[in-house]
Amino acid sequence: MYLRRVEAHGFKSFADRQRFEFGPGMTAVVGPNGSGKSNVSDAIRWALGEQSARSIRARKTEDVIFSGSEKRRPMGMAEVTLTLDNSEGWMPIDYREVTVTRRAHRTGENEYFINGQKVRLLDVQDLFRRAQVGQNSYAMMTQGLVDEVLALRPIERRDLIEEAADVHRHRLDRESTRLNSSH
Ligand code: ATP
Repeated sequence: MYLRRVEAHGFKSFADRQRFEFGPGMTAVVGPNGSGKSNVSDAIRWALGEQSARSIRARKTEDVIFSGSEKRRPMGMAEVTLTLDNSEGWMPIDYREVTVTRRAHRTGENEYFINGQKVRLLDVQDLFRRAQVGQNSYAMMTQGLVDEVLALRPIERRDLIEEAADVHRHRLDRESTRLNSSH
């Protein structure tokens, strides 16, 4: 899964339209405490359809919308767009570049778009499931998670690493093939 770009507007502290370009390799977001670094990973998770408010450090939909500052009025809408490279066709969709957008309004309404076309949350989830980068094959390492991983029992740690490395899926495929061929 190659994420090229994240654009956020009205999402949490991003009152101005912000654009993060990710080149190949590793990208680091650096800044003092409370400057909004974690809001970038929240934005990615949110655009992918995250439904648990807690995991994006919010209590309700409204909490993700810019709430105003001394100089700026609160905004009515939050929007995040992820641009993914699909030149190798890892997503089952006929575009070399795929954008996934989530928008939320103060009424609590959420909207989703794939390449600018309005879709349902289910379609976004389905796209990633079919591209096999759904919940089971990407790992978000959030603050504190490294400590948690180190505290896991070896067998639990192995499960987590295998899941991140996508070994799990191949093992399941292999097992189902073995079961099918023994019948
Ligand atoms: P740390 O290093 O402590 O993790 P950080 O750089 O990751 O900090 P975040 O926790 O991502 O910072 O940023 C939180 C900032 O985002 C705070 O300043 C908070 O006021 C701001 N923020 C969060 N939600 C909103 C919102 N809805 N409207 C405006 N600002 C918001």
